[in-house]
Amino acid sequence: MILRFQSGSSREHVQMVREGLEKEGIRTLLSTETARPLVAVIDKTPPALLDGLKQDAQIEDIVPTRGDRRMVERAFFEQPSKVRIGSVEIGGGKVVMMAGPCSVEGRDFMLESARMVRDAGAQVLRGGAYKPRTSPYSFQGFGVEGLSQLKDAGEAYGMPVVTEIMDAAHLPAFVDHDIDMLQIGARNMQNFTMLKVIAEAGIPVLLKRALSGTVDEWLYSAEYLSAFGSPQVVLCERGIRTYEPATRNTLDLTVLPLLREWTHLPIVVDPAHAVGVARFIRPLARAAVAAGADGLIVESHPRPEQARSDKDQALLASELADIVADTRVLAAVTGRSYHP
Ligand code: PEP
Ligand code: MN
Repeated sequence: MILRFQSGSSREHVQMVREGLEKEGIRTLLSTETARPLVAVIDKTPPALLDGLKQDAQIEDIVPTRGDRRMVERAFFEQPSKVRIGSVEIGGGKVVMMAGPCSVEGRDFMLESARMVRDAGAQVLRGGAYKPRTSPYSFQGFGVEGLSQLKDAGEAYGMPVVTEIMDAAHLPAFVDHDIDMLQIGARNMQNFTMLKVIAEAGIPVLLKRALSGTVDEWLYSAEYLSAFGSPQVVLCERGIRTYEPATRNTLDLTVLPLLREWTHLPIVVDPAHAVGVARFIRPLARAAVAAGADGLIVESHPRPEQARSDKDQALLASELADIVADTRVLAAVTGRSYHP
C-alpha cells in the first residue's frame, strides 16, 4: 500500500510514521515525488498498526497496490515520471524518437548510421553489439568493439545511445563505455538475476516486454529494477506472440491507456519488432503516438538489403524522416510536442 500524505505534511511527521512502522519490522520507502509525501509500505501491516495509520489526520489516503509491487505503481508518483538520458528526457510531454541499426556493423557504418538518424530528426541512437539471435549461426554482434563503435558514433553526432545487454558479466564493459541506456531485450525480461545486477549500476533501462509477457509480469520486472537501484525505467512495447503468424508479432497498443493507470513509468513503442516489415511501420508508429506513447524506437539502415540482422524491418532515411514528420503532428494533436 501507498500512504498518501496531505501536501503540507511535515517531514518530521512523515519520518515519525515511517519509524513507527520500521520499529515493527515493516519496511517503507519514500517516493522522490516532491508535490506531497508518498510512502510505500513494503511488508504486510498488522490490523492494529493499520488502524493507527487510518486515524492519522495527515494521511489523506491509503492506496492499495496492484499485486506485490510498490515503486512502479501509479500511486507512488503524483505525476508521470521522467527518465533522462544525456540531454534527452523521456516521459516529460515531449515525444522522443530512438533509431539506428538493429546491429552495430562497423565503425564507418555506425558513423554513417548516426548521421542518417540525426539528420532524420531522431534524438537517441540505437544499435546492438550483443545480439540475441534465434540461430547460433546468425551474426551474434561485435560485442565490446560494437559498444565502442556505437558510443563513438553517438558522441560524434551528439546523441545518447541505447544498446542491449544480455549477460550481467558484460556490465563492466557497458559502464566503461559510458552507455547511456541499457536495453533489456524481450528474451531477458524475466532474467531476474541479470535484472538485479544491472539495477545496481543505476543506469537508465529500456525494458522490453517479453514475447509472451503479461502486463503484470512486465511491471514486476520493472519493480525488480527499481527495487534494486534503477528506478529510471522506460517500458517498451515491442509486440507479443499471438496465434497470428502473418506478421512477426502483434503490436499491443491496448497497453498504452492501461499502463497510464497502472504505472507512472514512461512507455515507448517499437513497431519494428512487432510487425517486422518496413513498409508497415509508419501506420503503426502513427497509431502508437496517437495512443499516447512517450516515444518510438525503430530500426534504420543506410542499405537495408545488406543489414546483418532484421533487414526486412530496416527503414531508409526518407522513411524515418516521414515517421518523424508524422510524430511531430501527432504529438501536437495529443497535447504534447516533439522533442527538440
Ligand atoms: C532489438 O532491439 O534488436 C531486439 C532484439 O529487440 P527485442 O528484444 O524486442 O526482440
Ligand atoms: Mn532488431
